Amino acid sequence: MYDLVVIGGGPAGSSAARRAAQRGLKTLLLDKETFPRSKPCAGAVSRQALESLDFVLPHDVREKEITGLRICYRGGAIETHSDDPVAVTVTRSRFDDCLLGKAAEAGALVHTGEKVVAVEELEDHVVVRSGGDSYSGRYLVVGEGARAALGKNAGRTTRGKSVALSMVAETEAPNARIDERLPGLLEIHVDLFRMGYAWIFPHDGYYSIGLWGFASHLKDPKGTARSFLRRTGFPEGLHFRGHRMSTGTIVNPLATPRVLTVGDAAGFTDPLTGEGIFYAIRSGIIAADMAVEAAQAGGPLPAGRYESACRRDFANNFLYARAIARTVYRFPSFFYRILAGDEELFRMLLEVPAMKRPYRDYVIWILFRLLRAIPCRVKNPVSRRCV
Ligand SMILES: Cc1cc2nc3c(=O)[nH]c(=O)nc-3n(C[C@H](O)[C@H](O)[C@H](O)COP(=O)(O)OP(=O)(O)OC[C@H]3O[C@@H](n4cnc5c(N)ncnc54)[C@H](O)[C@@H]3O)c2cc1C
Repeated sequence: MYDLVVIGGGPAGSSAARRAAQRGLKTLLLDKETFPRSKPCAGAVSRQALESLDFVLPHDVREKEITGLRICYRGGAIETHSDDPVAVTVTRSRFDDCLLGKAAEAGALVHTGEKVVAVEELEDHVVVRSGGDSYSGRYLVVGEGARAALGKNAGRTTRGKSVALSMVAETEAPNARIDERLPGLLEIHVDLFRMGYAWIFPHDGYYSIGLWGFASHLKDPKGTARSFLRRTGFPEGLHFRGHRMSTGTIVNPLATPRVLTVGDAAGFTDPLTGEGIFYAIRSGIIAADMAVEAAQAGGPLPAGRYESACRRDFANNFLYARAIARTVYRFPSFFYRILAGDEELFRMLLEVPAMKRPYRDYVIWILFRLLRAIPCRVKNPVSRRCV
């Protein structure tokens, strides 16, 4: 009997397994893929995600250091820069493999290439079935990612209708050209469709190019992607991969007496940016701590406390992120002009992923600044610093 079984070796599951093993739980992690496995992703790991790791991400996993953001709108572009890095880009196969290795290094037993097909929750333990084998655990952490097939089978549903769609393609380029085009910058375009954005992110020897947006507004994602490639001068035949995901929501139930859901499977992605790696890592760590506590007490998981801990730690922020998303993506021209005219407001947008400021403070700050800025924007609607 394991103390903890973890399903999924993405950032959520690996973080949960590492923490649980470090804290003395006999931990087994199962993933259906063999690692390194590929995962569609833009590969931006925010500073808040990096700082949630209890180790320094190795140099051979870090690709480009990101210190700034470029926003493009109808032929214009504005940029902001931070003094410190706000993110690094990674290739997910290498990043996830590194995190999984850290879980194993901490003592978790890792079985890859083993798909879980059924889960049974009993009064004092769980039984997890994969192909021919079955494993018992006192507790279970489910980090199966956005598709959440096991969660759906178990009747877990998401509240609200926040479903996003994201897809990405990659195209090689010499590093010198990438650094010249995007010197430490993430580039986003906010005029291609409503309620989302398109991006170009720099990597080591390639660009990732993609779309993120609320699915109800992305009616023709492939056509939109093709127009984006045409606009930005990339080959039109690039192959996009991606999927839908719940965003800024919390699955119901998030926790039961023996099972905790983490990461994308729990609906933990940012409804403004689509960022999910930070929330995956944090929810994995919190879930492991809850399992340790329950194991020490010899009882069920503190299900209600897991949800409130996630809310306190990061999920309350989704409310504010969604409010910003609704405003920014509905009125991109207004947002663009405000940011073009208010350097401080623009720079402060970088402070959220850099962990210097929660969304709540940013919303309050925006309201305050907008009230001051609107009369002058109306009188003088000229955008500044177009590059
Ligand atoms: C196109 C795209 C771009 C994105 N870009 C970014 C970005 O730049 N920055 C960012 O922070 N976030 C980004 N995200 C979101 C980010 O990828 C996710 O939030 C993150 O991967 C969530 O981690 P996770 O561990 O919950 O799930 P995943 O990383 O999806 O891992 C789930 C794991 O579970 C395994 N699994 C699934 N079912 C089973 C089963 N039955 N049995 C065993 N194993 C199973 C899978 O093989 C997988 O390894 C992006 C998402 C998409 C789609």
